[in-house]
Amino acid sequence: MAAKKTVKAAKKVCAKAACKKQAKVSKKGFVYHFGAGKADGNGAMKELLGGKGANLAEMAGHPKLKLPVPPGFTITTEVCTYYWNNKRTYPKTLKAEVETNLKKVEKETGKVFGSVNNPLLVSVRSGARSSMPGMMETILNVGLTLKTIPGMIKMTGDERFVYDAYRRLIMMYSDVVMEKAAGIEPKDDKGIRKILDEKLCDVKAAKGYKSDTELTAQELKALCEDFKKTVKKVLGSDFPDDPMQQLWGAIGAVFASWNGKRAVAYRNIEKIPHDWGTAVNVQSMVFGNMGNSSATGVAFTRNPGNGDSHFYGEYLVNAQGEDVVAGIRTPCPINEWSTSGHGNDSESLKKVMPKAYKELDAIQKRLEKHYKDMLDIEFTIENGRLWLLQCRVGKRNGIAAVQIALDMLKEKLINKVEAVLRVSPAQLDELLHPIVDPKAEASAKAIAKGLPAGPGGACGFIVFDSAAAIEAKKAGKECIIVREETNPEDVEGMRAAQAILTARGGMTSHAALVARGWGKCCIVGCSEITVDTAKRIMTVNGKQYKEGDYLTLNGTRGYVYEGKLSMLDAGEKNANLINFLKVCDAVKRLKVRANADTAADAEKAKAFGAQGIGLFRIEHMFYGANSEKPLFALRKMILSGSTEERVKALKEIFPFMKKDIKAALKAMAGFPVTIRLMDPPLHEFIPHSKDAVEAICKALKITPEQFEKRAEALKESNPMMGHRGIRLGVTYPEITEMQARAIFEAAAELIKEGLKITPEIMIPVVCDEKEIVNQKPIIEKVHKEVCAKAGKKIAYTVGTMIEIPRAAITSADIAQVADFYSFGTNDLTQMTFGFSRDDIGAFVPDYIKKGILKNDPFQILDQTGVGFLIRHAVKAGRGVKKNLKIGICGEHGGEPSSVEFCHREGFDYVSCSPFRVPIARLAAAQASAKEMKK
Ligand code: ADP
Ligand code: MG
Ligand code: MG
Repeated sequence: MAAKKTVKAAKKVCAKAACKKQAKVSKKGFVYHFGAGKADGNGAMKELLGGKGANLAEMAGHPKLKLPVPPGFTITTEVCTYYWNNKRTYPKTLKAEVETNLKKVEKETGKVFGSVNNPLLVSVRSGARSSMPGMMETILNVGLTLKTIPGMIKMTGDERFVYDAYRRLIMMYSDVVMEKAAGIEPKDDKGIRKILDEKLCDVKAAKGYKSDTELTAQELKALCEDFKKTVKKVLGSDFPDDPMQQLWGAIGAVFASWNGKRAVAYRNIEKIPHDWGTAVNVQSMVFGNMGNSSATGVAFTRNPGNGDSHFYGEYLVNAQGEDVVAGIRTPCPINEWSTSGHGNDSESLKKVMPKAYKELDAIQKRLEKHYKDMLDIEFTIENGRLWLLQCRVGKRNGIAAVQIALDMLKEKLINKVEAVLRVSPAQLDELLHPIVDPKAEASAKAIAKGLPAGPGGACGFIVFDSAAAIEAKKAGKECIIVREETNPEDVEGMRAAQAILTARGGMTSHAALVARGWGKCCIVGCSEITVDTAKRIMTVNGKQYKEGDYLTLNGTRGYVYEGKLSMLDAGEKNANLINFLKVCDAVKRLKVRANADTAADAEKAKAFGAQGIGLFRIEHMFYGANSEKPLFALRKMILSGSTEERVKALKEIFPFMKKDIKAALKAMAGFPVTIRLMDPPLHEFIPHSKDAVEAICKALKITPEQFEKRAEALKESNPMMGHRGIRLGVTYPEITEMQARAIFEAAAELIKEGLKITPEIMIPVVCDEKEIVNQKPIIEKVHKEVCAKAGKKIAYTVGTMIEIPRAAITSADIAQVADFYSFGTNDLTQMTFGFSRDDIGAFVPDYIKKGILKNDPFQILDQTGVGFLIRHAVKAGRGVKKNLKIGICGEHGGEPSSVEFCHREGFDYVSCSPFRVPIARLAAAQASAKEMKK
């Protein structure tokens, strides 16, 4: 149901975009030719030709490349939007354009589409702007009919090959065109492809064959007849025997597949706009299944799993392209660098077909130089002759992304600005993710080994299908999805799971590709396991594992362990990570600080590369470990009945506060530290337990009744907007005084030790500049006293947190009396939206689901509303004080899109939790890089 709705919504968007787009249909028309050293398009035309079409044109036609690409043509994405906008019809000129271009291909290949003697076969391939692996449809061998089959046999002299191609065509065509695109819902979820596949398996079983390649010509011929009868019976219509009907059926089905269930689901996950549309590529077929001097494969110019700078790939002899990706047969490595532990390289392409390999290797090198990035290449060898079928920038995991960016920088293929754009924040995050503890692993015995398709470690319980994985995720539980092989229908479950484990498939199988894109731990081709999805049992060497049993995976090496092994944070000591972040630092303009409340946090932050503390919460000592004594003193302070009592309690707090401030200042010596004056909602500290109340009564010499009264007086109906922050200092100046003293005395002592210390005192919850005017003299007075007593100068600044909309609005006034601003975007978001931070769980998810909000504004800065206030405050503030220092210290300080916003608005720094500092450094560098590239 939900999926149907999304499809509908997507169609609507698609249609709308088409209306707008129609006016600017390119002059060239709707069809672009490529092949034979020429192309109408080029690699930059992804919007119009889709990624696949644009790159085919680039490979075929660019003067520096002119690679062997089977001739063909691309029908533009504009036709897709037209198709969805016009009741699934085409622009009037399309038919003629396709026919003209088909003639061109016939001329270049010397074959004729539909010819009895010399038939041309084509593939009809989808190709969106951004790749959607396995999500959309492709049909091979279009043009095979009862009339053209004999011609094909004559041409190739290989009857077996022709019937193998024919049975593939029937399988793909009936599935994609006659069932899916026609909107036929299969009975019992068993589609025509599956039915036909089972027939194929039956024949193999009956003959005792292990591989498809063992089937004879006669067996395949009989199978094709059976297939066609089955298609008619199941789907109610004949498999078309007319080449043109096949061609247009396939073209329409590719356009239809743009809004297929799984394509829509994939776009939702990947946030690919639904209005982009797909192009269709019609391309002359080349055959990797013409016997043992033919092959097909997928390769990467560098290892996408670890970034190794060696050519890497897999191939199958005597097979058509889809066989490699579908994981039907486990493929062989192309060279010695591609063995990744699964057997030896005796069957490598390099050894088996050295000439074709050499040519391929030379081409991949040229391609990488040309594109200046790691590429993913599809190739086919037909009777020893090499053809390139696709190239695109290759998906890679975080480890590989960092390695490749650093290597390419060293090789001078790219510069620093480009290098920082090569690693996404999510990929960098993978390097900060857990791995299986090597110690635990050393003493554990792996139950199985597969191919290491997605690195890192993961631990979770077994689930056998997508639905169970999604359910586990919803319940906040960690699971591992175990499948025979994955297919595009499993994506949502794969996304929800901690890790993916499959019994079949190679490093370029669907599961591996998808996992790599997400940086997810993944092991594929783990042939020691057998999976019985129906019974929900996995068997390894005779031992059974049920749904719910725990596994631990090492996706970096491919090992599967039983039970839970302990995990380790990977992170900060990784040399590549450190070097890459150094490159980021060289590109970024923004400084990155951390929010840290203790010396330990400050140390951690420094290790992650923080350049100071953006938020030190002075009240930290009242929470958590070792807080009993200061908390007791604080309670006394809060509940005191007179200034005298309060001052006494403050004196007790003082040494604790000074000690903590000193430790943090010391840990960050040489860097700026922003210390925020107390901002606790007081009621949080009122004791409740009987013992605690008694102790307080005793200390303050009051009765329980008096206690009750005082506690009652402190109750607030809206504590978030209550007596907190600077308001406390206004009512009780002695509180501000004590804090200032703690800060300056700590600073003075460290300065005496020879350290460079510059505290930045931040006044919270300000709404009017007169609040600062009221408090500043207190701070100044203490400063003078401490300096005089210590005989040292203490440099310091006084600034404010901008977290109340009124403060942002009156920035021109506030800037007169503040040395710096730090945007407290958590509260600023709360008060701009009027959303209580602690209560959003009840409604924000609905707002997102219903499209009212795009994101949770507490996670991703609302650049429209909150951003408006910030922009104004920065402009007005700097208008008054040109060098007003500006930072951010809310959660948003570590969120990439928010960091980019801060860069654009001219901030001096962002501050975030220590663990997010690396991400913020990258985000800051990318913001700079994007600006420089403009
Ligand atoms: P996807 O986008 O899912 O990778 P493709 O359009 O690339 O789909 O096609 C699927 C498989 O068919 C690929 O392995 C590809 O190499 C192969 N293929 C596509 N067109 C041809 C062709 N003209 N000749 C031979 N193989 C082809
Ligand atoms: Mg492909
Ligand atoms: Mg606040």
